Amino acid sequence: MIWLDFTMFLILAVLFLYVFSSSTVTVLHRIYLLLHVVFIMWPLFQFASQTTSATSFRLLYLSGSYIGLSMLGIGWFIFILYLTGQSYVIRKSRLLVLSIPALISVAVVAWNPSGMFLTVDAKLEPLKQLQHGPLYWVMIGQLLLYLSVSLVILLHKLRRKDESARQRQMVRTALIGLFMLSSFALGDLLINLYLIDRLDNYFPLISVGLATTATYIVNAISRNRVFDIIQIVQRDVMNTMSMGILVLDENDIILEVNKVLKPLLKLRIGDFFRPLELASQFKEESSKQLLALFEAQKARSMERLEVELNVAINHIRHVIVQSAPILDGKKRIIGRVLTFQDVSELRMLVEETNSQNELLHQRNNELMVMQDELFQANKKLEHMAITDGLTGCYNRRYLLQQLEEEVVANIRYGIPFSLFIFDLDHFKMINDRYGHLTGDEVLCSTVDAVRSALRPTDVLARFGGEEFTVYLPHTNKEQAELMAEQVKMTVEQNKVPSGIGDGMISVTISMGVISIDRFDAASLADPKTYLRNLMAQADAALYEAKYNGRNRIVKSKLA
Ligand code: GH3
Ligand code: MG
Ligand code: MG
Repeated sequence: MIWLDFTMFLILAVLFLYVFSSSTVTVLHRIYLLLHVVFIMWPLFQFASQTTSATSFRLLYLSGSYIGLSMLGIGWFIFILYLTGQSYVIRKSRLLVLSIPALISVAVVAWNPSGMFLTVDAKLEPLKQLQHGPLYWVMIGQLLLYLSVSLVILLHKLRRKDESARQRQMVRTALIGLFMLSSFALGDLLINLYLIDRLDNYFPLISVGLATTATYIVNAISRNRVFDIIQIVQRDVMNTMSMGILVLDENDIILEVNKVLKPLLKLRIGDFFRPLELASQFKEESSKQLLALFEAQKARSMERLEVELNVAINHIRHVIVQSAPILDGKKRIIGRVLTFQDVSELRMLVEETNSQNELLHQRNNELMVMQDELFQANKKLEHMAITDGLTGCYNRRYLLQQLEEEVVANIRYGIPFSLFIFDLDHFKMINDRYGHLTGDEVLCSTVDAVRSALRPTDVLARFGGEEFTVYLPHTNKEQAELMAEQVKMTVEQNKVPSGIGDGMISVTISMGVISIDRFDAASLADPKTYLRNLMAQADAALYEAKYNGRNRIVKSKLA
């Protein structure tokens, strides 16, 4: 039987390594592994005790196995608490309180006062050498206590209807495990304590029970993935994501296609991933882009690559496809993950914002054009308000307004200035002979001629009909006389086509000139009246010029 204990120890040890190395290690796994260590202790020390004949060593090893057995109850109890989702019970530092029975048992085994727990009497026949004292029942008692409470918890959980199928499966597994463990323990008690005389043989039922229970639980773990909560969560997360996920191994075998992607792309888990096949499911441009991505991925396999496609699935959608390597701990590529993210809404939003911006920009431009037009119109209006429509020179209102300001400044600072008033001679005749239109042309042509004889700073204005006024700033008497002669001569020499054959029209003007180079500060008190006087004087001079035979210049005598 010594080798049976050892074999059981080996089985448990192998199972331990298997659990530890295989699936994702969760808290529940760790708790189970602790329990598993407790499971291992019994067969290991039982085996060890049979390798020696020295009583003290046998007692030591046997104590070791009973310490392991003492911890079985609490280990199992904690495992059940975690399994049924009640780990919070021990989290609030109640672990010590809950462990008291087990600790008492361990203390009893370790202390073994005067062999009251266990003695080895080498004088007796081999099967009866092991003697259990009254304290042995302390250990059995606490074991039964933990197992009974576990049983109550499990039965309570099983009776609740609101538990998930996975929870119920876990509880059922634990119940069966508990049943196995208890059966073997009771069997051991029965056979090795009470029936040992009759059977004449020791049988390590506890070891077998522990190994069987552990095998059963480990099998349930791997078959039903009861503990693989992380994996289940990962799968749930992947399947509830709006992003399409495709996982490939290093040989391009499809390991995973999540729920979003499955109906859209005809891909199956386990198939070889063929980029061409996937690309063929899209229209030309997208298909090319996708193939280009896979080509680039071959060349730059360590990089995360990205492409945005416009694919037609029901209607046009924008999809960002990302290809990223999956690396192991040593940075070796063990696969790739492809993600497909629909960004249509985002694109639509961006496009909408862009088009709105464009519209705004357009409106802005239109507004600017309108503003410019308004400015131009205003300028035109302003121009129209101060000019004469026919001849383009300033009108009477503008000139008088200008003069009011200028005259005040000239008098204040003693700046000489002059004024001309001229009228076309016998203009009525021209109208009568050549018509009003030709008359207009003669008027305009005469204005142009006068303007050409004046300086840029001189202000020419139409005063009414065919009568004009010129304001000459910074011009004294002599200069004014010269300018007047110049103007008169230019007009005289100016010829306008009559419109009748090659006939040319030439007109003359009569002019009144007034120059101010003596200044009377008193006139500043009422510049309007002063100006009116000046104009009247010039007008009188003009009248005199007409009276004296026209085509002449008369200088005002009063100024
Ligand atoms: P004078 O001044 O030498 O005494 O003789 P006149 O023939 O020029 O006589 P007056 O100054 O009294 O007549 C002005 C004429 O000029 C009268 C009118 O028909 C004409 N006239 C005034 N304004 C315009 C105009 O804008 N276009 C044309 N074609 N004729 C005009
Ligand atoms: Mg006239
Ligand atoms: Mg006139």
